[in-house]
Amino acid sequence: MTFHPDEATIEEFRKRIIAWYEESGDKRLPWRKVKDGWAVLVASLFLRKTTVAQVAKMYERFLKRFPSPQSLLSAEEGEVAEIIRPLGIHQRTRQLRELAKVLVEHFEGKVPCSREELKKLPGIGDYIAAEVLLRVCNQPEPLLDRNMIRVIERVFGVKSAKKRPHTDPELWSFARELVPKDPEEAEKFNFGVLDFARKVCKARNPRCNECFVADLCQHFQGIEMRGRIVDQART
Ligand code: SF4
Repeated sequence: MTFHPDEATIEEFRKRIIAWYEESGDKRLPWRKVKDGWAVLVASLFLRKTTVAQVAKMYERFLKRFPSPQSLLSAEEGEVAEIIRPLGIHQRTRQLRELAKVLVEHFEGKVPCSREELKKLPGIGDYIAAEVLLRVCNQPEPLLDRNMIRVIERVFGVKSAKKRPHTDPELWSFARELVPKDPEEAEKFNFGVLDFARKVCKARNPRCNECFVADLCQHFQGIEMRGRIVDQART
């Protein structure tokens, strides 16, 4: 995939997504209010392969009891397991303890602000590293999960040639160009795209007729074009 985006379209897309997020985004989710590295990292890990509702049931309780990697390491494994039980994934206790151990032993209990160091931490891949860089280290990174990929592909008409698009460096680089440089705007933009993907540009049955970026969207233009061709054929 090689793609050269039109700057005016990108700017308009950013502006509308941020305005929509401010109006309709899920700003109350507890993990969106935190800025501490450990709190962000833990939320990212919890949200992997679980639902927002499951994490909402235990996130604040977890952080209150284990506000740092040190506090987690000094607790009994059974107590950690009991608090994260609503996630339904038992290996998480062990993963969390491994992560806390590396942070305490190699980073004085702090979450590093380097992509290379983040990706050496157990269980941390491109997405979680990007989330820490964006939210904790004020770097304009995209939260490129399958939802953001879907929106990008549809709106900008790009398609990764990789079987696993979230590992495609070209797609990451394109998504990076979309993110505003200002840290606060970058965060709102990312959360906005994720909420937009969940509520409007859904995987099945996207709500194109109510969509506020339909006039910018390549996918929608294709749908409209096909509609017109069918209409013409009928007349
Ligand atoms: S027009 Fe449809 S496909 Fe395009 S961004 Fe909006 S909801 Fe998604």
